[in-house]
Amino acid sequence: MVYGIGIDIGGTKIASGIVNDTGKVMYQKTVPTPKMGREEILAVLKTIILELVEWSELQGLSLAGIGIGTAGQVHFYEGKVISGTPNIRDWNGVNLRGDIGTYTNLPVYVDNDVNVLALAESVFGAAKGYEEVICLALGTGIGGGIFTNGQLLRGDWGGGAELGHMSINLNGDLCNCGLNGCLETYASGTWIAKRMQKARQEQGLSADVTSRDVFALYRQDDPLARRVIQTMIHGLSYGIVNLIHLFNPQAIVLGGGVMSEGQWIVDSVQKKISTMGMNSLVEEVEIKLSELHSNSGLIGAAMQTWLYK
Ligand SMILES: [Zn+2]
Repeated sequence: MVYGIGIDIGGTKIASGIVNDTGKVMYQKTVPTPKMGREEILAVLKTIILELVEWSELQGLSLAGIGIGTAGQVHFYEGKVISGTPNIRDWNGVNLRGDIGTYTNLPVYVDNDVNVLALAESVFGAAKGYEEVICLALGTGIGGGIFTNGQLLRGDWGGGAELGHMSINLNGDLCNCGLNGCLETYASGTWIAKRMQKARQEQGLSADVTSRDVFALYRQDDPLARRVIQTMIHGLSYGIVNLIHLFNPQAIVLGGGVMSEGQWIVDSVQKKISTMGMNSLVEEVEIKLSELHSNSGLIGAAMQTWLYK
């Protein structure tokens, strides 16, 4: 059996653990992400890694390496964060492989958080068994992972598959990436809430609503919520049909916080796309709900240590 350290670095918490190649988490440690930024985060990572290594030694386990998934855009081959995330202070340009490599003699692998989630999904979740499959994570933003020939598509340095920033409307709302009408401005939790806030403001109603509230109102047949969710399904379907036209996948897996609302979103999208785009490509594609659970980020991070060695 192979064992690896997995570390999932997010804006609010750092989840870490020892994972074996059946996806089982043997030992786990989760801490809040330090707010002071890079130096403090690296110090916390060092403490965690040394603790995990010590635990493994006590158990007599030999480790294949350290795998990290982090928010932000990652240079996969150099193990550097090229462009950080506003949620983690001073994360731009941090050389994770270089810094973490000095803590132990273990090899270090670094990828972005959505790619490692897609990796976990492809071996232990809903994307299992497909060579050509695309994972979309609908959360605060939208991230993606594209598998072709069973491998993650990376582009030149690993920044590819920013699927949330595929524009589907030239005249759409301005996204924080600089484009208008990105998929993210239709189907992310942030924008579902924003769209509803704007609609309610126009009606003189309280704009204090989250995306969860929008789904709750939708279930109560609130007309504004119905409009916002219909726009979301419509936008998501356009984005998905674009992906189908580009990549000819067997399946598309939808995950992330927004999808915890349930299978009905999957069913609505499957129905909607059946009347859209090139029938020869669209008709066979299965839209599926993610089967991942809360540990999948750290499991996917650890998987790098045996998949990429
Ligand atoms: Zn964008």
